[in-house]
Amino acid sequence: MAEFDVDLFVIGGGSGGVRAARIAANYGAKVMVAEEYRMGGTCVIRGCVPKKLFVIGSHVHQEIEDAAGFGWSIGQVSFDWATLVANKDKEIARLERAYTTNVEKSGATIVKTRAVLEDAHTLRLATGEKVTAKYILIATGGAPNHGPAVPGIEHVISSNEAFHLKELPKRIVIQGGGYIALEFAGIFAGYGSDVTVVYRGDNILRGFDEDVRKHVRTEMEKHGITIITGCTVAKVDKHGHDFTAHLSGGSSIAADQVMFAIGRHPNVANLGLETAGVAINPANGGIQVDGWSKTSVDNIYAVGDVTHRTNLTPVAIREGHAFADTVFGKRPVQVDHATIPTAVFSQPEVGTVGLTEEEARAQYSHVDIYKTDFRPIKATMSGRDTRVLMKLVVDASSDRVLGCHIVGDCAAEITQAVAIAVKMKATKADFDATVALHPTASEELVTMRTPTARHVRQAAE
Ligand code: FAD
Ligand code: NDP
Repeated sequence: MAEFDVDLFVIGGGSGGVRAARIAANYGAKVMVAEEYRMGGTCVIRGCVPKKLFVIGSHVHQEIEDAAGFGWSIGQVSFDWATLVANKDKEIARLERAYTTNVEKSGATIVKTRAVLEDAHTLRLATGEKVTAKYILIATGGAPNHGPAVPGIEHVISSNEAFHLKELPKRIVIQGGGYIALEFAGIFAGYGSDVTVVYRGDNILRGFDEDVRKHVRTEMEKHGITIITGCTVAKVDKHGHDFTAHLSGGSSIAADQVMFAIGRHPNVANLGLETAGVAINPANGGIQVDGWSKTSVDNIYAVGDVTHRTNLTPVAIREGHAFADTVFGKRPVQVDHATIPTAVFSQPEVGTVGLTEEEARAQYSHVDIYKTDFRPIKATMSGRDTRVLMKLVVDASSDRVLGCHIVGDCAAEITQAVAIAVKMKATKADFDATVALHPTASEELVTMRTPTARHVRQAAE
């Protein structure tokens, strides 16, 4: 009789868990996956995919406005939020089925229940059943932070609820200045809501390149989004169907919805981690792992958002795949977390890979900046008041391109391609040697010849 019920038990059927389960099963392992909510996890059910669908739909408004300059005369238009939500739900249900089928096709078994650790080799399911496993992978993801318990917090929604609102709010206050706050600000504004972003710091998108932060803010404000910085939502009152968000500065804003997008925390609570001896990383509250995604317990691994390393879907997938290759494929693979491209699907979009100017100047003694800020060709006829930002950060000593930052249409798509060059350690000379593709916005990346700034760090006295 086998020593364990399964070779691998995966807790969580999201991006990381599903990939690991499928690859391990392909290597011949007996795999069981527990999912307490819906197969596909955050990205598919209430993250990247429904978000991107909402973003795509909200752009139509701009397209309609821009059409007049190209000769189109578009009659009365109307938008129906309920149709958008219903069609999105249909697509998400289809994807959920596809994820389920793909896992089952690989030979793994799905149990639709919560699972927690009883000890280092035993899982307890919500059904009361126990399953023993040689290896356990924790891929439980994360959940929205609710922040400090301000009075009226029970009236505040997170991104989870934003995907299922019965009506489009006419006015919405969104607290936060990161990915989710800005993406939803663009979404709601695109569909016609009056949007106010409330951010505690001095400018949105902390951690991004300073020029990107300024450019995005200016452009979002041109779109009619109000951005209030240097304060927080201190209290929320409800009157009938309306809310008032009281700000720490003393002012207040009337709204139909108040949303917080103030970060996410790893799902580590009540998982039985202590009983199994799995340590938490005190620096970030996620499960502590080494370069192989192994936890403090030899047969237990953790991947994705629950480790709070880089909380992005492709990273969770890669970590799950590398785990399965290493443990079941006899092919040790470590994930390289350096130079991961990322995009904020705000409007305008942000695409970024590599170092910001600030990071480069802290790490390298000679840094050249190539930056351009221009009116895109479409705006010349649409009349839209908008500008695109493109910026390259270069190590002037080696000529290597350290970072690329774009704000404008298709920034994410462009950045995915540029990321290959940056990852390959391309030099500015390599960019220059590439013939431009005309007329595009991204041709600027290979035609900027003169640095707009040169930074030389003075040797310490
Ligand atoms: P998840 O996908 O969260 O999966 C974890 C699963 O575990 C969940 O299904 C959960 O129900 C289940 N679970 C938890 N505990 C248990 C338990 N005890 N038993 C059984 N099941 C359990 N990333 C991008 O790269 N691009 C984007 O555009 C993007 N947009 C996003 C938009 C939003 C609104 C949000 C919230 C996130 C977005 N992300 C995006 C981040 C991305 O969704 C996550 O990084 C990714 O889903 C992490 O995958 P994971 O496998 O670690 O966890
Ligand atoms: P982010 O970390 O991106 O942003 C959180 C924001 O909330 C920051 O502006 C932060 O301010 C602010 N904040 C944090 N705590 C408080 C508080 N107590 N009171 C007021 N403001 C606060 O998190 P998100 O929730 O936007 O998204 C979570 C993660 O999901 C992202 O970091 C990303 O990894 C992933 N994601 C990726 C997407 C993509 O790839 N396009 C899209 C959506 C999510 P400060 O900067 O001052 O700390």
